[in-house]
Amino acid sequence: MVFDPVSYLALAGLLGAALLTSTDAQAQPMNVGDAMVAATAYHDNGDYERDFTSVIQDASEWVRFRASHVTKPALVLDIDETSLSNWPEIAANQFAYYRNGRCDDLPKGPCGVIAWETSAKAQAFPSTLALYKMARQHGVTVFFVTGRSEGEREGTAHNLEAAGYQGWSELVLRPEGSHTASASDYKSAERARIEKLGYHIIANIGDQPSDLAGGHAERGFLLPNPFYRVP
Ligand SMILES: [Mg+2]
Repeated sequence: MVFDPVSYLALAGLLGAALLTSTDAQAQPMNVGDAMVAATAYHDNGDYERDFTSVIQDASEWVRFRASHVTKPALVLDIDETSLSNWPEIAANQFAYYRNGRCDDLPKGPCGVIAWETSAKAQAFPSTLALYKMARQHGVTVFFVTGRSEGEREGTAHNLEAAGYQGWSELVLRPEGSHTASASDYKSAERARIEKLGYHIIANIGDQPSDLAGGHAERGFLLPNPFYRVP
């Protein structure tokens, strides 16, 4: 047998790969590149819209059922990835977060988040908008409670209106420069304030567990979002 260094190295490489696969695969941390591919596929293949709509349908049935059973029924809606879709910005940034900087080269990035949000170009999720309109028709008062800051009030209000959300009661934004360990600290306190106004929050809908934690709603509905996490 003639020693062939190239074949020998290739074989050694294959064996090495096999050993890694068989012995080390479970010890590997999640790969960010793989997660990006999976998240993009989840959005593009329709699974995201299917799962999103399923949660909104559950929430719609609950809101329709409860609206006439309480006095001053209220609905609390998160904005980003709940009422408005930021997918053009998310995709352009490949799931990275660029707070500052311009966003005028879409669909290419980078796209600064503040610039994107003040551009007021985000589209409504059709299922959430349908829920919103149904709730309003049933006499439900709607509060948007968002992690966006006060400096974005004008652009955010304009975007909500332009996307079809008209007739809401209040847009609650974070005071400029405020910080809490979790968004839930701020959001649950705002729901408590809404309750003190005499409203009965029948549903609270968001895409982050921190949107729902802390109670002050009859039911919370968690939408899918594998694209980013808000602590
Ligand atoms: Mg959100």
